[in-house]
Amino acid sequence: MGGADRLSPRIQRTATLTLLERAQRVELASLEDPEFNRLLESARFGIHSVQRLTSESVSVLSTLLSMAATGGVLFTLSPVLLPLMVLIAAPRAWGAAVTARRRRTSVMAWLQHLRASQLVAQLLTQTHTAAEIRVHGVGAFLLHHFERMAVASDREQARLAAAGARTTIAAAAASGLAFTATFGLLGALVSGGHLALAAAGTAVVAVRTGAANVGGLLGSVNQLFEEALYVGDLQRLTTEADALAIPAGGDDLPERPAAIHVEDVCFTYTGRTTPSLDKVSLVVSTGKIVALVGDNGAGKSTLARLLCGLYQPDSGTIRWDDVDTATADRKQQFASTVLLPQDFFRWPLTLRAIVTTGRPGHHDDAHALGAAADFAGMQDLLRKQDRGWDTLAARGFEGGVDFSGGQWQQIGTARTHLRATTTGAEGRRPFLVVADEPTSALDPAAEVRAFDNLRRLAGQGATVLLITHRLAASAAADLIYVLKDGRLVEQGTHEELMAAAPNDDRPGAGSYRTAYLLQAQQYATRLPGPRSADATTTAAP
Ligand code: ATP
Repeated sequence: MGGADRLSPRIQRTATLTLLERAQRVELASLEDPEFNRLLESARFGIHSVQRLTSESVSVLSTLLSMAATGGVLFTLSPVLLPLMVLIAAPRAWGAAVTARRRRTSVMAWLQHLRASQLVAQLLTQTHTAAEIRVHGVGAFLLHHFERMAVASDREQARLAAAGARTTIAAAAASGLAFTATFGLLGALVSGGHLALAAAGTAVVAVRTGAANVGGLLGSVNQLFEEALYVGDLQRLTTEADALAIPAGGDDLPERPAAIHVEDVCFTYTGRTTPSLDKVSLVVSTGKIVALVGDNGAGKSTLARLLCGLYQPDSGTIRWDDVDTATADRKQQFASTVLLPQDFFRWPLTLRAIVTTGRPGHHDDAHALGAAADFAGMQDLLRKQDRGWDTLAARGFEGGVDFSGGQWQQIGTARTHLRATTTGAEGRRPFLVVADEPTSALDPAAEVRAFDNLRRLAGQGATVLLITHRLAASAAADLIYVLKDGRLVEQGTHEELMAAAPNDDRPGAGSYRTAYLLQAQQYATRLPGPRSADATTTAAP
C-alpha cells in the first residue's frame, strides 16, 4: 500500500467529521437556508476531493522528477528545445483546464437537481414511505420524476462530453502544429550542422517524453486546481458554519427562573414574507401548566421553538427573569428544556438509547427507566418485546421492529420524563417541558393519564407548555394563550375565556369559547338518553 493510499482514508475521515461536526451545530434557521444547503452539498464533493488531492499531489511530484531528467537531456542537446517541448504540451493542458472549468460550472448549476434526485431515490426505498408508495401509487409518480431527472442529467453529461471532445480536438490540433514546428526546427538544426543526426534522434525521443511529462504535469496541476475548488468549498463551509454556529458561552441563565417573559416578539421564517409571530407578548410562570391553543398555522409550535432557543426572535425579547436569552448561554437554555415535538422523530435506535438520549449516565439505570415507562404507560409495550429495552426500533434491520403512532408517542413521553427528572452532564435539571400535541395518537385512557402526568410534572416544579387542539386538556391548564395568525388574541383561565362577552368585536375575541363549544357539541349531540340536554353544557371535548 502506497503512502497516499494509507493517508487518504484518514484524510477523508477527518474531512467528513469536520463537515458533520460543523453542520450539526449551526443555527436551525441556517440549516433551513437553501444557500447553506447548496454549500453543504458542494462541500460534500470536497470530501472526495481531499482524497483525490492527496493522490494527485503524489503523481505531480513523481512527474516533476521524471521531467527534470528529460529536461536535463534536452537542455544539453539544445536549450531551444525546452520551450518547444512546453509549446507541444500547453494546448493539451489548456484543453484540460477548459474541460475542468466547464465541469465545475455544470456541477454547481446542477447541485439542486442532484440533491432532488437523490432524495427521490431515497423516498422510493425507505420503509416509512413504503405504504403510500404502494397504496397511493406514489411509486410510479416518483419513478417518473426520477427518470425525467435522470434523462435531464444524461443530456447534461452528453453536452459536457461533446464540448469536451471539441476542446480535445482543438487542443490536439494545436499540439500537432507545435510538434511539426519542433521537427522543422530539428531538421534545420541538423541541416545547419548545429546538431548531429544521432543527437537529433535522441532529441525526438526526449521531446516526445518531455511533452508527455509536461502534458501530464499540467493535467495533474489542473486536476489539482479543480479538486482544490471543492476543497475550497469545504473550507468555506467550515468558516461559514463557524460563523453561523450557535454561539458558545454567554450570560448565565437562572436554573429555575420565576417566569419566562416574552415581549413584542416577531419572527419570520427564512424565505417567508408574512411573520409567523407578530408582536407576541406573554408570561410563562414556573411550576404552571400553560396551554397554547389556536388554529392550524397560528404560530404555536414556532413560539415553542423560540422558547426552547431553537430560533432567535427577529425583534422583541425573551427573558428568563431578567436575563435576555439573545445573549444567554444557549447550552444552558437547551439543558433546561425538554422538548416533545409534534413530529417526534422515530430514531432508529434501541428503546433504551431513545429514552436515555442525552442522558448516557442513565443507560442502565433500571429505576429511572422504570419510572419513565410507568409515566408514559409503556410497560405493556415493553412486556410484549422479547428484548425489552434493547428492542431495536428500526424496521428493515436484523431484529428491528416498528411501533404504532401511539406507541411512538409513549416512547417520546418516556424520554420526556427521564430527561425532566434527571440532571444532565451540564449539571442542570430541565424545568421547561414543551409538549407539542403529546397525546394526538393516544387512546382515551392513555390520554387522560398523560394529562394527569403532565400536571404531576408541574406539581414537581416544572413548567409545562402544552400545545394542543384538545380543549378539554387546555381547560385544565393554569393559563391559556390563544394565538391566531401569529398574534396573541386572547389569554386567561378556561373559565375567564368561556365567560368572554359574545359581542366583543376585537379580532380573535371569543375564539376559544367558540372552538370549545364546537368540540363539546360534537360529543354532546351523540350522548344517549334524556340527560343529553344537560350534557350540551357540561360535556368536555
Ligand atoms: P398546527 O396547529 O397546525 O401545528 P401551529 O400553530 O403550531 O400549527 P406553526 O407550526 O408555528 O403553527 O406555523 C406557523 C406558520 O409558520 C405557518 O404558516 C407555517 O406554514 C409556518 N412555518 C412553520 N414552520 C416553518 C418552517 N420551518 N419554515 C417556514 N415556514 C414555517
